[in-house]
Amino acid sequence: MAALFFFYWLGEALAQAPSPDIPAMTWRLVEVRGADQAAQRLMAGAGIEIVGKESKGGLQALVNRAQQQWLDSLGLFTRVLIEDYGRWLAERNRAEAGLAAPQDLADGSLGGYFSPQEILAFVDSLIAGDTHGIISDTMIIGFSTWQNPLWVVKISAAPNADQDLPEVFFNSLIHAREAMSGMVLLYFMRYLVDNYGVTDSVTDLVDSRELYFMPLVNPDGYQINWDNYRNTGGFGLWRKNARDNNNNGALDQLLDGVDLNRNFPFQWGNIDFDYSSSSNPGSDSYRGASAASEPETKALIDFINKRSFTAAINLHTYSAVLINPFNYRDLRTPDSLLYDRLAGLLTAGNGYGHGNAIETLGYPANGELTDWEYADSASRGKIMSWTGEIGATKNGFWPARTEIPLEQKKNLAMLADLAKIAGFWPTLDSLAQVRAQPDSSRLHLRFRLSNLGILPNREKITVRLKVEAGGEFNPQDSVSPGDLSVAAVPPSERDSLLVDLSGSSGYYPAALEVYEGGRKLRSFAFQLKGNLSPFDLTRDGKTNIFDLLDMLRILASDQPTGADWSAYDLNHDGKVTVLDLIVLLKDLAKK
Ligand SMILES: [Zn+2]
Repeated sequence: MAALFFFYWLGEALAQAPSPDIPAMTWRLVEVRGADQAAQRLMAGAGIEIVGKESKGGLQALVNRAQQQWLDSLGLFTRVLIEDYGRWLAERNRAEAGLAAPQDLADGSLGGYFSPQEILAFVDSLIAGDTHGIISDTMIIGFSTWQNPLWVVKISAAPNADQDLPEVFFNSLIHAREAMSGMVLLYFMRYLVDNYGVTDSVTDLVDSRELYFMPLVNPDGYQINWDNYRNTGGFGLWRKNARDNNNNGALDQLLDGVDLNRNFPFQWGNIDFDYSSSSNPGSDSYRGASAASEPETKALIDFINKRSFTAAINLHTYSAVLINPFNYRDLRTPDSLLYDRLAGLLTAGNGYGHGNAIETLGYPANGELTDWEYADSASRGKIMSWTGEIGATKNGFWPARTEIPLEQKKNLAMLADLAKIAGFWPTLDSLAQVRAQPDSSRLHLRFRLSNLGILPNREKITVRLKVEAGGEFNPQDSVSPGDLSVAAVPPSERDSLLVDLSGSSGYYPAALEVYEGGRKLRSFAFQLKGNLSPFDLTRDGKTNIFDLLDMLRILASDQPTGADWSAYDLNHDGKVTVLDLIVLLKDLAKK
């Protein structure tokens, strides 16, 4: 009877007690290779979830350490893709949480796409609505064949000043029929303006870069397609500029126009590699009478040579690939390993393939902008440049209107990530919280940063601990010796912050903030482990009746295993028994 009563009482009490804290758990995203149907059934039977496929045929699965060991013991090959997938997902989620929800940009007069006038009006509306002063007025850098202005805008914390920050160049619509590229770029511009001052990650990014935008590189060609749409109701497929090749004063569809993306001076017209660049004025890939013969090309060259861009993306439509030099022939650059690594980062969100033109599209192109930006660097330094071919091949030019918002969202991360990697861009490889001594209240935060970006840091890197204070813990007094300055990234193993946790208990939401000079680049959130009494079984910072209830719950149930279990073994005899309950009661009795 006594026992029955006991459990009845326990059940009542538990119904009112708060849920115990869930212990920390992690899941790895791994690639599993060599799993045939039978092995996949075994995996499913073991509760291992297959969440996707790697491009080269391996399976992506969510596992814990033990499950991965089990897979290895089956003779399967496993490789960790993301060590802590839950945290990765949460960080991704947090990054989106504060974002404003802009309307889709798919209401243009050109079948959902913006007309040439609407592109300019849209950018003017961004400028007019920019309460933080982060977008410049349109700056004219030249005039087209038909004397349309060629304009750029800059987005940064000081758009009218030269700031000596990493500079990035984004452009679209060098090919007039590739309107999706422009819609994707305009959406990214609005994303920056709308979220500046709202979302820390966007504010920090804009504050640390100088971003230049040229959404309409080829206004004449785009005007041709817009007029065609108004006249015929059909989408125009004009690609080139409006050069009057035969000087007859008229626009001849089969004779006029220069492919601006074959008109740049690097390897222009190299007849040894002359596949998709033509000397025939009627060709869609006509390279022009001479290198940089076109006013649009000249304006771009002058503009780019006067700046110091470190990264650039030239947006096109379509094929869903990110293309790096060299494109004039099948040749890897001296930076091919860097290109591979960065392209892997840039395409993580949209899943695009990457490589040079041959590797991605299957054909080369000489005299094109991306090669020139990268290689023709004598007067202005090398630019890590890419061609972004937006949109799936099956959707072709002018995808359906409903595809516009999908592509805008799908490619947002690639554009934002290009801005990030254009300079020093830190990532947190590891973070350990180590007690100076087992019973010490001083905690070392040992971390390792590395640089994902193109450039080394230009200014001193400072790592600052930010803690949401609670209880008696005042983090302002507790970081010793204050902010940490890191001379170089990657730093030495010694890089750590010492935190005095006297008077603290429980867990604190905390972040390591990484600054370059005075500018915050990134913030890495984590839980700072305050002093925890071994008797604080519920990890709520207090030792009280709830810890007793927690112990009783464990004693009354099947014993847990692993780390869970050892927390309750208060007398360290290797078992959880009533003796541990007595140890806990003794501690409670002292209070
Ligand atoms: Zn193109």
